Amino acid sequence: MKIIGNIRQALDEKGHITIPEFISEAMYNIHEGYYIKTDPIGKTGDFITAPEISQLFGEMIGVYSADLWIKMGQPKEFNLVELGPGHGTLMDDLLRSTKNVPGFHQACRVHFVEKNKRLIQVQKSKLSKYKIPFNWHQNVYNLPNDLPMIVIANEFFDCLPINQYIKIDNQWFEQAIALNNTEFSFIQIPINLDLSISLDNDHPNAKSWDIIEICYPALEIIQHFAKLFQYIPGSMLIIDYGYDEDPKTRKNYNSTLQAIKDHKFHPIFQDIGRADITAHVDFLALRQSSIINQCLSTKSVTQREFLLNLGIALRAEILKNVSQPTVAKTIQHGLDRLIAPDQMGNLFKAMIIYSKDLSEFLAKG
Ligand code: SAH
Repeated sequence: MKIIGNIRQALDEKGHITIPEFISEAMYNIHEGYYIKTDPIGKTGDFITAPEISQLFGEMIGVYSADLWIKMGQPKEFNLVELGPGHGTLMDDLLRSTKNVPGFHQACRVHFVEKNKRLIQVQKSKLSKYKIPFNWHQNVYNLPNDLPMIVIANEFFDCLPINQYIKIDNQWFEQAIALNNTEFSFIQIPINLDLSISLDNDHPNAKSWDIIEICYPALEIIQHFAKLFQYIPGSMLIIDYGYDEDPKTRKNYNSTLQAIKDHKFHPIFQDIGRADITAHVDFLALRQSSIINQCLSTKSVTQREFLLNLGIALRAEILKNVSQPTVAKTIQHGLDRLIAPDQMGNLFKAMIIYSKDLSEFLAKG
């Protein structure tokens, strides 16, 4: 078994590695990390995403963005930010579908947050046809903060490393990873009292062996934007697979950590750095983080509801009517994958965090 990056060193020094340290090395190690060196998306990669399934997805985000820009008062310049743009397909479909919105392209400055150099090349070549300024950034903290902002994050937050806490006989521990000979396994390490008290307070229904996941980098990113949105008009659309459960009624507290390779679930500890490791997104936690930082947030809705509200079914009909039967079938198939409750429709959720000046438009949904 190949153990990459600093995982071996952490194991040697401490006898274990924490889950976020493990994920960070596997995904972001500058030489061998999965998101740094591979192109994970598409048939030849490990997974497929909504924009790659159907052009309808990016077109609907185009409808959403243009509508929001108009509601913001059509600022003459604004930053259109995408976190983790993959192959640039969403942005391509978004820009193509908004080219007839007067003034939108002229006002638009695109900023991508992307760590993967190979994907940056893919994004550059796909989008060079647009006469719009494009900029790339390594992380959200380098983004400009001088203009109104529309931020899009599709399948970005699920990439970020999580911590897991497990309750055993009324006591909370952090889950960590140890190596015995050649077998990785989870072990439990102590946590401080303050954290333990807050886990108890936040999750009164958690039982023995229940697992709570917290994605600190995601909370920090939301905090960053929420603070920004206190003085510039802005919003962030988050679409991801995840859950949004009230702790008072929540029953399931299971690990959602998963690895995907070649479009199939894969053991987390196998092929480290060569399989995608993700976790479900806790939408409630993201919403709370935005609200604590004086920003507003919608509730999450299912991807199905979100796309149907934007008119995806009508757009699909229009496209089908001008297409050959085989193409029309592909369009319908793509639509089904995006919105069918047993496919992406219900598991994926959409939520918008936004500055107070947009409450007139976004509070209504
Ligand atoms: N949004 C795209 C791609 C999703 S895959 C789509 O829907 O098709 C996740 C994307 O986020 C990839 O582009 C990956 O390289 C990027 N990414 C993952 N973690 C990142 C991080 N911490 N900072 C910047 N980009 C990241």
